[in-house]
Amino acid sequence: MKRLKDIGEFGLIERIRKRLRPCPGCIKGIGDDAAVLVSKREEFMLLTTDSLVEGVHFKKGDNPKAIGRKAISVSISDIAAMGGEPQYCTTSIGAPGDMSLNKIDNIFSGILQRAKEFKVAIVGGDTVRSKNLIINTALIGKVERKSLVTRDGARVNDIIFLSGRVGGSSCLKRHLNFRPHLEESRFLVKNFRINSMIDLSDGLFSDLCKLCKESNVGAVIYEELIPFNKDVNLTSALYEGEDFKLLFTVAPDMAKKVSAIYDYRFFPIGHIQDKRFGLKLVGKGPNREEVSLADKSFKHFR
Ligand code: ADP
Ligand code: MG
Repeated sequence: MKRLKDIGEFGLIERIRKRLRPCPGCIKGIGDDAAVLVSKREEFMLLTTDSLVEGVHFKKGDNPKAIGRKAISVSISDIAAMGGEPQYCTTSIGAPGDMSLNKIDNIFSGILQRAKEFKVAIVGGDTVRSKNLIINTALIGKVERKSLVTRDGARVNDIIFLSGRVGGSSCLKRHLNFRPHLEESRFLVKNFRINSMIDLSDGLFSDLCKLCKESNVGAVIYEELIPFNKDVNLTSALYEGEDFKLLFTVAPDMAKKVSAIYDYRFFPIGHIQDKRFGLKLVGKGPNREEVSLADKSFKHFR
């Protein structure tokens, strides 16, 4: 009997994707940070949902307010990755009956605080009994049609950028305190032609893989250009998930301008290659050795 663990998360998503058909009004369904739906003449609607599970995305003893803040931030980050603005959110909570009300109140305070900061209205949700704490957010947003950025627009020779430093999300617990890069995204889409974008939820390597797969291209990144957080090594920067920085690509003639922006820091880390090239990391040693980056998702991509 084949089990879920044999195909993994990405295998399952691919399996579901194969069973779905295009539907009227849906510009983009499965395969991006949010679904893109027809709305007004000059605007698209965006829809994303995310779940946080105790023991997977946070620990039992973590600060409840930080857990709440993280739950809604993950969805805000997905709307940012499409170039849009978040608007309306539902929050669903699954919790055991003996959970203290104080803890649930604090989780909700975290959600509300972040919702207010990012001008998101909480408009409903669902409450169920569950052995472990689960929080789900579903978030609707909007994006001007001309500002929409998807994962599938990367072109050969595009320069690959990160919107901030990476690494340390789990070993340094940054994942509980990240700020979604919404402002950065809005600045980018209003001032530049961004060819493709994704937020880093599974890790730099894995999310670069997804972007390349959707765009049907390969990529090379340079170790010496990757902006590490303090006290973080290459493995953490490449493979630790939940960094929630934006990874995006722009045409080469625009890259200098993006690098030179003063109000935000955007770091060029490599460029897009032909698909046959695969995904490679150039080391910073004296020989600048090239390493083929490969893991499960990469094999799947090929
Ligand atoms: P993100 O990390 O940005 O939230 P994922 O990479 O987890 O997105 O998901 C990739 C795509 O797969 C998204 O378009 C998402 O909507 C879709 N997806 C994930 N799980 C399911 C599921 N159970 N059913 C349908 N679509 C799913
Ligand atoms: Mg995402």
